[in-house]
Amino acid sequence: MPLSTIPRLPLAFTPTPLTRLPRLTSLFNKVDLWIKRDDQTGLGLGGNKTRKLEFLLADALQKGCDTVITAGAAQSNHCRQTAAAAASQGLECHLVLGGDPPETLTGNALLDVLFGANLHWTGEQRKGEQLPAIIKLLEEKGRKPYMIPYGGSNEIGALGYVYAMQELQQQLTEQQQTIDTIIFASSSAGTHAGLMVGAHLTGFTGNIIGIGIDKTELSYGSEHAQYIVDLSNKTAEKLKLNKRFSHDEMILNTDYFGEGYGIVGTVEKEAIGLMARHEGIVLDPVYTGRAMAGLIDMIRQDKLEDAKNVLFWHTGGAPAVFHYSDKLV
Ligand SMILES: *Cc1c(COP(=O)(O)O)cnc(C)c1O
Repeated sequence: MPLSTIPRLPLAFTPTPLTRLPRLTSLFNKVDLWIKRDDQTGLGLGGNKTRKLEFLLADALQKGCDTVITAGAAQSNHCRQTAAAAASQGLECHLVLGGDPPETLTGNALLDVLFGANLHWTGEQRKGEQLPAIIKLLEEKGRKPYMIPYGGSNEIGALGYVYAMQELQQQLTEQQQTIDTIIFASSSAGTHAGLMVGAHLTGFTGNIIGIGIDKTELSYGSEHAQYIVDLSNKTAEKLKLNKRFSHDEMILNTDYFGEGYGIVGTVEKEAIGLMARHEGIVLDPVYTGRAMAGLIDMIRQDKLEDAKNVLFWHTGGAPAVFHYSDKLV
């Protein structure tokens, strides 16, 4: 089943810009640095989840659902983009957020409320446990809820990054440019799986390197790497491709977990500062700041062997900087 025949709700401003990073490139003077601006997908201050939601919400609407429900951390970019997408379609939105309600709403959590989402705080519990009870309650009220998985990462959401890879290839053709290495923040696996399937479909032969941002982010009970490979295969199956991926075709760099999920260390702070001062681009403290810190380290340590044209895929997250104001400057 070709991707073009699967329903997609246009929510994002695409194609997102593909541009050079000239000042960062001369700063290190080793590889040519490029950026794909998925922080500029437009809806609700943008980010990579909007691409996944194009396919997820199309599926929800096709199934006649009138309510969406998903879960995440208190500063989840996924939840914020889900709330914005739901608002844009007139759908009711329920978000199950980790922890206790904060005294003042900041960053993504503030935006969740602005977009009209209903927040359910988990307190001590892990995020997933309350979902069945909330869904049951919604059904009793006569709503038709649609469950969006953590990070929007299943074989439907991942299609957003198959689509994105096709978009990139088209831009590279138009600009007569080649990219040999793609670097991005990898967490709930949807972006990673989609890019791998998209690379296979479009014949992209460069390296696709996910920087793992945390070992505990995934609550699936399976190892992160295995989950990415499994999701790639499910996504390939969804598209009726014969291709099956193995572990050695997938690159997940786990050297940059830092001090744990959402903790801003010196390297993340440096990366965010360099990108801001040299290019005027905002990275986020949890995902893209950490991935950029990884890329900077790989450049400095000459770990990117034969790389010449390196693309940093900016996956968004900027609203979270307002939650970490005391950690960033
Ligand atoms: C969710 C997120 C990621 C990770 O994407 P996954 O598809 O969950 O791996 C990276 N960057 C930002 C800013 C995100 O919000």
